[in-house]
Amino acid sequence: MEYFRLKGIGVSPGIAIGEVQLTERVIFTQRKEALSPDRIEPELQRLSKAIERTKTQLSRVKDQIRKKVGDEHSFILEAHLLMLEDKSMRTNLEKIIEEEECRSEWALSRVHAKYKRLFESISDEYFRQRESDITDVLTKIYRNLEAPRHKKKMDDESERIIVAHDLLPSEAALRLSRGNVLAVAIDMGGQTSHTAILARSLNIPAVVALRNISQRVRNGDYIIVDGTDGEVIVNPPLAIRKEFFSKKEKYDDYRKELKKTAKLKSETLDGFRFYPLANIELPEEVKPALSLGAEGIGLFRSEFIYLQSTSLPSEEDHYSIYSQLAKTAAPLPVYIRTVDIGGEKNLPQLKIEKEPNPALGLRAIRLSLRDTDLFKIQLKAILRASAHGNVKILIPMVTEIEEVEEIKILLHEVKNELRKKRIRFAANIPLGVMIEVPAAAAMIDLLVKEVDYFSIGTNDLIQYYLAVDRSNEFVSYLYKPLHPSILRLVRSIIETAQRAGREVAVCGEMAADPVAALVLLGFGLKNFSMNPIFIPKIKKALRSVELKTVKRVVREAMNLKTAQEIEEYVIEKILVKHPNAFLTSTIL
Ligand code: PEP
Ligand code: MG
Repeated sequence: MEYFRLKGIGVSPGIAIGEVQLTERVIFTQRKEALSPDRIEPELQRLSKAIERTKTQLSRVKDQIRKKVGDEHSFILEAHLLMLEDKSMRTNLEKIIEEEECRSEWALSRVHAKYKRLFESISDEYFRQRESDITDVLTKIYRNLEAPRHKKKMDDESERIIVAHDLLPSEAALRLSRGNVLAVAIDMGGQTSHTAILARSLNIPAVVALRNISQRVRNGDYIIVDGTDGEVIVNPPLAIRKEFFSKKEKYDDYRKELKKTAKLKSETLDGFRFYPLANIELPEEVKPALSLGAEGIGLFRSEFIYLQSTSLPSEEDHYSIYSQLAKTAAPLPVYIRTVDIGGEKNLPQLKIEKEPNPALGLRAIRLSLRDTDLFKIQLKAILRASAHGNVKILIPMVTEIEEVEEIKILLHEVKNELRKKRIRFAANIPLGVMIEVPAAAAMIDLLVKEVDYFSIGTNDLIQYYLAVDRSNEFVSYLYKPLHPSILRLVRSIIETAQRAGREVAVCGEMAADPVAALVLLGFGLKNFSMNPIFIPKIKKALRSVELKTVKRVVREAMNLKTAQEIEEYVIEKILVKHPNAFLTSTIL
């Protein structure tokens, strides 16, 4: 058996060792089979039956999942059932059968190709990945065109590592919730695919973007999936197995220790209280985030709502999500960021023209202030959810005070509309802005007079301040959160905001890196918002140190000239005093 290693993206940490189970892949037909006119009607019936069978199956799977892992994971199936109800998809399929006089297989294949093209033109990774939901639903209908033959023997219950070209969301939900999946390795996918989200919340190690692993392994091959370092090792020799068994043990011990951290107080050794918060995209992520130790939702990226349907979301669509968020997190705070789309994150239903330089274009609040009707719908829904008492409004990509003034006028108008209708809301709902454009950072002393709080979006702030595209691998060597200029800028934002009595958080990836988080703590930062999986690690780092020591070390580090010198200095000086602050090996 051939031994080889493949690098991918680790989307759910941990190590698993076991046997491969390959999953079958459905390929849509490339052949158009013509039908005589008298066979069109029966063909439409055949399609209709397949759709009905799919609905029955999905409802059954949804119930199964709800029983096994709870409501929060059955939402994927709920979304699929809604897609099946969607008249436009069905009409589309029927029209192709009638007009092209063809079989349903061809119609499904055409519709699939159309959606695929549409989604591929979206540059934002999160949105692009929702294509798999459509593929999932169409695949299910496709399979159901044939009446069910004798039911295939269910997979046996022994523990396996799933290897697939792409795991469709409903398949992922069903398979991963069975409890016998040790790990997942997939050709396709990225950080925000459903499989990744689900694997993380079920604690199943997963590596995606492996390109061709599904073609290179066979059922029964022995593999190691290292979700921490994003690697898969197929048929390893004994020495490598041993190495990974010990790595797994070390990692599992560290996880156990981290898990305990979730219930401990978020406080440094000398009693400085800090708040770990979660960045999420789905309301279903709230509970898992809280169980990892989040003390609120620091950033709800509301863009995802636009994926729920191919048309624009209504006020009720927005509201049901925000109130679910607020209720689940209450009494902890929920910072709802108004949509950050446009530019890179283009969506077909918004009909934004292609821009020559999207990162500097009509994005986020700029777009909301152009389409104020859409913006007001979102504001109204957020305000209605604020009746729960724990909701705050967060505005992305603010560049100038005029924008804040305009937002306040719109907010005022929306509040008046709600008052007239006697709808309850929190009249003094906090209004905050993201600091991600250098111009906003440079006039923080003026902004403190305009808004209630700030959230520093370092992902964008670093890209704009250093002029380094955050997703361009050719310049990624220049993308440095610890660049002295970034640290000076971030320090001045935190200090100025706090001096003015304004709350400030960091919600970019920087807050999830232990060394950077310690530097931010040294600046006096209290609110650290990040992808929930990193919370235990950061909480452990911050709990292991004395603020006094960190402040001194960071002050000294600020005299150094390069990001590398700063990093080395902080690690060395902090580990001398607090050797348990973080692991420096490749374990995490
Ligand atoms: C940021 O820019 O740091 C941020 C948190 O926003 P996003 O990553 O969604 O652009
Ligand atoms: Mg941003």
